[in-house]
Amino acid sequence: MMNDETVLSLDKISKTFSSGSRSLEVLKQSSFNARAGESIAVVGPSGSGKTTLLGICAGLDTPTSGEIKLNGVSLGELSEDQRSDVRNRFVGFVFQNFQLLPTLTALENVMVPLELRGEGEGDVESEAKDLLKKVGLGERVDHYPVQLSGGEQQRVAIARAFINRPRILFADEPTGNLDSDTSHSIVDLLFELNRKSGTTLILVTHDGELASKTDRVLRIDNGKVMEES
Ligand code: ADP
Ligand code: MG
Repeated sequence: MMNDETVLSLDKISKTFSSGSRSLEVLKQSSFNARAGESIAVVGPSGSGKTTLLGICAGLDTPTSGEIKLNGVSLGELSEDQRSDVRNRFVGFVFQNFQLLPTLTALENVMVPLELRGEGEGDVESEAKDLLKKVGLGERVDHYPVQLSGGEQQRVAIARAFINRPRILFADEPTGNLDSDTSHSIVDLLFELNRKSGTTLILVTHDGELASKTDRVLRIDNGKVMEES
């Protein structure tokens, strides 16, 4: 499911980290667009700015200069609160280390984003249960993160990222902490959700095989985001 609608656009984005007299320009005047339903891999050596780029795209971090639009909304013009609202409505994020809340069950973890939106308890619970079933964890809803394997924890994190039906799902090395069999099943799940829901998938990976499954590959080279042919 892909159309021409632009869901994310970056226009001459730069990002410099400064501490004391030292400054590091991680991203330099980088631009690209992502369309609805596309899958995009972001590749580049360690320290090249992949996580920084994803954080800026997702509205978790702000660029030093340049303009970024999520679903047509220019993030630079928003207050912190407005930005987190846009993030809650349009964006899902999956991390390498899962980042589940340890004191909440699988079901409660998945419900967190909906509760942030102030939805009614009953609806939220049945929606979250359905999604956990979809990711293959229908029998694990009451388990706590420590009682789940790495692959299962990442499935919970994916369900949590999907509960708001995001336009874009960002995944930062989502299989980096998983063995290769588990990685394959997580990757299959991400692509299945991407295909079935039309959610744009933008993922950082070191895995060339995984990158070759996406519609496009963006490489960060010396702070510049380049389209790979
Ligand atoms: P990658 O994900 O490609 O490994 P990162 O985006 O994490 O790279 O980091 C890019 C560069 O920016 C690294 O040199 C890193 O040390 C630096 N960096 C990242 N975040 C910060 C920060 N908050 N403050 C200072 N430097 C940072
Ligand atoms: Mg990184």
